[in-house]
Amino acid sequence: MANMNHEGEQKFEKKNIRPTSMRKLIYRILSEKDQAMSLYEIEQQFDQVERSTIFRTLRVFQDNCLIHLIYDGTGAVKYALCDDDCSCGINDLHIHFLCSSCGNNYCLKELPVPYMDLPEGYTFENANFVIRGICPDCQ
Ligand SMILES: [Zn+2]
Ligand SMILES: [Zn+2]
Ligand SMILES: [Zn+2]
Repeated sequence: MANMNHEGEQKFEKKNIRPTSMRKLIYRILSEKDQAMSLYEIEQQFDQVERSTIFRTLRVFQDNCLIHLIYDGTGAVKYALCDDDCSCGINDLHIHFLCSSCGNNYCLKELPVPYMDLPEGYTFENANFVIRGICPDCQ
């Protein structure tokens, strides 16, 4: 895959991911969309590929903070690219926007998940903050 963009190569290096051709391909699919994608949607970009291969690749991306997972209540997990400086920690959590018209899910990275002061005895692990509405394309 010689035509992977330079930005992608740098990202792999930064996140310590060995650039196999499958990984490059899936990265490109994700970066060409500006919204989160489900496993099924990624699979649709291929003529023929094992779903487990895609899944394994996404798992490597997830483990190395190249992507993050979104549970938006639609039943399908969505995958979206992380920023360069993302370490997938609490401070990197942001709000996601699910369009009820087109079904696309957008990362609103400029809107961090609000800090929550949990009652005593509760330990924070993760948060999924999804807003439903109509996206600019569907207005
Ligand atoms: Zn991340
Ligand atoms: Zn929409
Ligand atoms: Zn996101």
